[in-house]
Amino acid sequence: MFRRKKLLLALTLILGLAIGAAGGYLVQAKLKPKPKASTQKVVKVTKSSSPAASNKPNATTTPADPEKIRRVMTFLSANIGPRPEGKAGEKQAASYLLTELEKLGYKVGMEEFVLPSGSSSQNLVTADPGQSSKYTFFVCAHIDSKSGSPGANDNASGVAVAMAVAQALAGMEPRPRRSVAFLFFAAEEQWVKGSEYYLQHQPPALASVRAFINLDGVGRGRRLEALAAKNYPKLWKYFAVANRELVHAAVSPSYFHNRARPRLDAARFMWAGVPTVSFSAYGAPELPYPVYHTSHDRPEILTPQIMVYLGQLIFSAVIQLADSE
Ligand SMILES: [Zn+2]
Repeated sequence: MFRRKKLLLALTLILGLAIGAAGGYLVQAKLKPKPKASTQKVVKVTKSSSPAASNKPNATTTPADPEKIRRVMTFLSANIGPRPEGKAGEKQAASYLLTELEKLGYKVGMEEFVLPSGSSSQNLVTADPGQSSKYTFFVCAHIDSKSGSPGANDNASGVAVAMAVAQALAGMEPRPRRSVAFLFFAAEEQWVKGSEYYLQHQPPALASVRAFINLDGVGRGRRLEALAAKNYPKLWKYFAVANRELVHAAVSPSYFHNRARPRLDAARFMWAGVPTVSFSAYGAPELPYPVYHTSHDRPEILTPQIMVYLGQLIFSAVIQLADSE
């Protein structure tokens, strides 16, 4: 109950911040100069560690810091740009996220794998900074984008929200009882190869994974769809309660029918028997040009508030899940 009160205070604060952030958002996204393409060194480490307590977020950290979301989303889609599988942009994005996660105190594993084209991609997997436990909850977003698309919505938005949740969790005292891990998959747009590799080659003890929460295309819209929520009502209840009591976002839980052909990392985890929910955003006003998988998927077309709502929702539900299961 005490934690709920603290959360409520934090959420009230963040709504104020979010409105301010949304105002300056478009201007900043447009003004930011695009840096010259840089040659990015591929990080080969498979495990690295940094002291968990060395870089604790300060007291202004909120359940879904709008500034953190804006910064990560803009860096991936405007500074790096397109991040197709196996190419420099995807590697640069993975390297950037690895550094950011380590700054927050996470231990991060980077697993490289070879694509059918012969080039390589890389997934990132964190270990909980505070503790390990026999149950784990996964929060996941794919790093890559379609060739030629800056992928601001698909899927810099999902990565940015997951990073904001990672930041808020890293700063929590006391820690939730169970582990929360963050997965950033590569090559999702290429037959969902990143999660396939993860499940085939470094299988976690899947029986210990209690939920897989996926974020894909969460940056543009007025409503959230929660795909597979109706497949897993026990899992969804935590989100429904958090939304009703704290966040008040427009969310539509739906049933995931299309399981025969994996088009989402979430489908692979459903096949593996892990309770899953996959978030996306929808309901933004129509634009006069197509956005999905095109060069128009840029920061300017996003609606930042929906990402803040989703970050709050995931943070609130996950800490309840990780404390109670
Ligand atoms: Zn996607």
